[in-house]
Amino acid sequence: MFAFLSDFFEKKLIDCWAPVPLSACRVTKPYLLERANISDGTVIIIAVPYFTKACADKQRNISAYAVSKNYHDFFINLFDELILLLQANFPNQTFASFADHSPIAEIEAAALAGLGVIGQNHLLLTPKYSSYIFLGEIITDAILPCDTQKIQGCENCGACQKSCPMEDCGTCLSALTQKKGELSEREAACIVKYGSAWGCDICQEVCPHTKRALKSGSIFTPIPYFYEDNISHLTTLALDAMSDEAFVTRAFSWRGRNTVRRNLLLLENHFKEKGDEWC
Ligand code: SF4
Ligand code: SF4
Repeated sequence: MFAFLSDFFEKKLIDCWAPVPLSACRVTKPYLLERANISDGTVIIIAVPYFTKACADKQRNISAYAVSKNYHDFFINLFDELILLLQANFPNQTFASFADHSPIAEIEAAALAGLGVIGQNHLLLTPKYSSYIFLGEIITDAILPCDTQKIQGCENCGACQKSCPMEDCGTCLSALTQKKGELSEREAACIVKYGSAWGCDICQEVCPHTKRALKSGSIFTPIPYFYEDNISHLTTLALDAMSDEAFVTRAFSWRGRNTVRRNLLLLENHFKEKGDEWC
């Protein structure tokens, strides 16, 4: 692979990336590729680890991915620099960047690139960071040398399925905490039972890949950005004290203040009723 790319990722402390041919990837949103004016070429798929010490806090009441500042800002800066570098090396080629809203099936592409295996929890399980990574990619019409690997699944131990509260809640708990408006009694009780004001990590936490990565310590991201302004235990007090500027830097902001506030109130009222200290 090109030394300038390896150097770039080494400087960014990203050790989980690889190119994969676009033709090998499953295109799920072709209009995004059309808009980028790319029909064939290469995907540089990047797995960015985000797990910090604060994510391991036993009092954490928001999903681990929301503990740090919004990862979109990290990707925006990363992509800006990377595209400039790629354009300098391939001046006649086109480059487009994606995080979240991707034209391809990202997890499959990452497994094809050999970054990890696909878990029964539908997440990419990387050897060092388990599933605690954000995926993003640059897609280009440049043809870069790359191989594909056979997509592998996990060992199907079933722990994620067994622990999943989906049946109990009637829907994915993560989706439930992000639902706007009023919750039914069953939905509210579910938030209280599982103690989450935002998201759900159960199918990641019980996974043996996560347990191994935690035990060895490899799970922790080396990237300083993810250690800035960590919040592991959110309270209504802290939320209300947050300026709008600070609020929009958090991953739990995208459904608005009222959604996360409603969930926090459910948890806090429950703890008050029990006579427990909340903060
Ligand atoms: S996030 Fe939680 S509720 Fe959703 S599938 Fe995973 S364990 Fe189940
Ligand atoms: S908990 Fe077991 S079945 Fe689920 S993703 Fe992890 S290894 Fe696979």
